[in-house]
Amino acid sequence: MKLAAASATDQGRVRSNNEDAFLIDDQRALFAVADGMGGHRGGEVASHTAIEALRAAIANGTPLHDAITRANTAVLTRAAGDDELAGMGTTMTAVVAIGGRQLLIGHVGDSRAYMLHEGTLRRATDDHSLVEELVREGRLTPEQAEAHPQRAIVTRALGVDDPVDVDLYTLDVEAGDRVVLCSDGLTTMVRERDIERLARAEPDPQRLAEALVAAANDAGGEDNVTVVVVDVLEADAALAHDPTTVIAEQEPPVSRSAVIPPPDPPAPREPRPKGSRSRAVRGAILVLLPLLFIVGIAAAALGWYARSSYFVGASGNEVVIYKGVPGGVLGWNPTVDQRTGVALGSLPALDRDRVQTNSSRGSRATAEAYVGRLRAAATTTTTSTTTTRPKTTTTAPKRTTTTKPRVTATTIAKAGP
Ligand code: MG
Repeated sequence: MKLAAASATDQGRVRSNNEDAFLIDDQRALFAVADGMGGHRGGEVASHTAIEALRAAIANGTPLHDAITRANTAVLTRAAGDDELAGMGTTMTAVVAIGGRQLLIGHVGDSRAYMLHEGTLRRATDDHSLVEELVREGRLTPEQAEAHPQRAIVTRALGVDDPVDVDLYTLDVEAGDRVVLCSDGLTTMVRERDIERLARAEPDPQRLAEALVAAANDAGGEDNVTVVVVDVLEADAALAHDPTTVIAEQEPPVSRSAVIPPPDPPAPREPRPKGSRSRAVRGAILVLLPLLFIVGIAAAALGWYARSSYFVGASGNEVVIYKGVPGGVLGWNPTVDQRTGVALGSLPALDRDRVQTNSSRGSRATAEAYVGRLRAAATTTTTSTTTTRPKTTTTAPKRTTTTKPRVTATTIAKAGP
């Protein structure tokens, strides 16, 4: 395969530094764009660390997927060794030639690869971003996504999780095809149809890269913008075993390779929205923690309620005071706190109902007071379990009191409705 590659990068019109990085490795036919994020120096260090780790891994013969995994490890390791770099991350969109007519793309984050084939531009990668996920789920239109205030929030990046999920895409290419790698500083500023128009009209890859960066700046240049253009000059399956050659366009060496130690400007900068991208992933954790705390408090409150409540109920034929809530709550089941020796069957019907339906609830004192009243009502009827039997009327004088429960019941019934 014969390729021609060119690049352009700019910090844009708003940012005070450039956290993007890129790579054109002629010998390995390897191309990449990385968009760093994280406060202070973090973004620059993350993107440059990832690009250098990718280059080194590919140079050692590591397959693209594993090379990006190593870049992820490199960013995590670098961040772990420096408090100032904690939380940094970066996107990575890399392309390597395989065989005589295929390109392999490895992708994490919201930088993009486009392919121009016969004048039509097609996006070759899916963004790992909040708004793109909403578009894929049909909850946002592509037009709404373009203007969405949270379009900079990425859902996947190098430097966050280990291992990282890497998307791989294979592109079949032929002579005349063109691949454009770019950071979101291009795609948030320039519409795809304008990218397509420029990519179709400009035959020279270097001039195209510069024109795209200029277009992003003309539109406001709100973010760092980086473009790598790879033109396929020759592609043939028969050439599968031929070494791929890359003709890199002439340009100042300083911008040719991103494998330059990042500058070290310790000047404080105002917080940038970009920082919210890495926070987006960690943000989920920060949102969950207070939620778990609230759930814990609620569970503790319910437990306290369950264990400090009492009710009067029945255990077999005996009236007892239960500690807890009828039916239990969150695994705290009521336990018998005190037996009363009062037989359920000795109670007036209404009280018996109340006891059997556990409808007397409250503190321990209320429960004891209620049991006291039950005891009083029951005492007079201890021997009146036979009230329903006709013979009770013929027994001891005490039987006169058998009317008491009925009177009580009647009184209450009257007082009712
Ligand atoms: Mg960006």
